[in-house]
Amino acid sequence: MIRSILIAAVCLFALQLEAQEKFAIQNVSVITMVNETVLENHTVIVDKGRITKVAPTNKTKLSKNVRVIDGTGKFLMPGLFDMHTHFFYEQGDHINTNEAELKMMLANGITTARIMAGHPSYLEAKSNVKSGKWIGPELSVASPQFVGRWPFPPEFKNYEIVASETKAQEAVKRFKAEGYDAIKITFMMAKPIYKAVTEAAAKENIKVVGHVGPIVMLPAAIEAGQQIEHMDMFIETLLPDTSYNHGQSVSDYNIYSKAAWETVPHLMESKIPALAKSVKDAGIYVTPTNYFFLSVFGFPLSEDEIKAKPDYNYLPSKLKAEKWKYRESYLKRMAPLESREKYVKIRKQMVHELWKAGVPLMAGSDAPEFFQVAGFALHDELKAMVDAGLTPFAALQTATVNPAKFLDMASRTGTIEVGKEADLILLQKNPLEDVTNTRAITGVSTNHQWLDKNAIVNLLQQSRETLEK
Ligand SMILES: [Zn+2]
Repeated sequence: MIRSILIAAVCLFALQLEAQEKFAIQNVSVITMVNETVLENHTVIVDKGRITKVAPTNKTKLSKNVRVIDGTGKFLMPGLFDMHTHFFYEQGDHINTNEAELKMMLANGITTARIMAGHPSYLEAKSNVKSGKWIGPELSVASPQFVGRWPFPPEFKNYEIVASETKAQEAVKRFKAEGYDAIKITFMMAKPIYKAVTEAAAKENIKVVGHVGPIVMLPAAIEAGQQIEHMDMFIETLLPDTSYNHGQSVSDYNIYSKAAWETVPHLMESKIPALAKSVKDAGIYVTPTNYFFLSVFGFPLSEDEIKAKPDYNYLPSKLKAEKWKYRESYLKRMAPLESREKYVKIRKQMVHELWKAGVPLMAGSDAPEFFQVAGFALHDELKAMVDAGLTPFAALQTATVNPAKFLDMASRTGTIEVGKEADLILLQKNPLEDVTNTRAITGVSTNHQWLDKNAIVNLLQQSRETLEK
């Protein structure tokens, strides 16, 4: 008796597994991201993690063993990329909750994430997802950040001090061999060392990504073809002449500096189109992380606004006090409203002009900076793209096709096409009408699995419990 129950249970399990492997989303509106056309009343079939069919529902016959997901009234689009994120591990008491954070990202529709400063545990996370041991987005992991010196306490080692050209070359080789996907630049690096890094990286066939500091400055970064985060040092080029051109503009690096904010009234918006053209001509991808800069430094969110965001519920309590303290110290030094208004206007205009010039933009949240939490925060960045003047379709490109192309993954992900990996999200509402509808997630597919609404809620609950431990 027990034996037959066991056999029945095993059979049922096997059946479920098979059904998991093959599923069809029926009667859904498909936003393929190949172009803006929405394929209405379509069926998308997934088998063993690959899209095997995209066709009108009335012309699609399904075999019996296929799990059917009703997509009526819903929208299916490729899974999202967050191109700039970090783990909580780098903050507070350095508690490793990487696995929980990956679940949180996936529950928010992130099926690929780029971790922007390396650590051995992040490479481990990457391989755990790849092997199926963990559930989460596919990871691209940048190296420990290259710096000229490290001005903070050295307790969490995800930086590499490169004090000489030889050291720089050696570090590039080592990180490539260790499995990092890019070389991350941070700051305070002398120009010849920067040059040595970019040359060594070209030789090793690994991309250079990250900040542009006031020593290297934008022209050198453009010449090297570095992929640029935060539009670092772009604002510098809007200063009227060399008398102001002293690396003191209010770029990422100088955001806390009073002197930097004093240059804002001198900035010339008329220089933005030429700046955009030079970035476009160099073929450089840009991750503006505009929501982060505007909501923290431009027009800081109020205390109530911060607490009302979904992110706040997933922020470990242990980190909250520190974050309120940082916010307080910025608010105390904050520049006058007039300067901040101009700063916000210029950052939006830069994103708009870069897009119009044809620069491939990529959506990145920079979570968990301040009160942003990975997964949730990416949706704010998509909204920031639209607020800067992109169409909702163009905003979605920044989190699908553009990053897929940059990461050399375009042949297997970023769009919904036969043969591609089934990185998919099912939405209750149309994100092309209102980009904030990317939050209305009711299904996610990745790693051969279909996660329905219940599974998503469970993932979020599990991550929250781990993060509060
Ligand atoms: Zn960052």
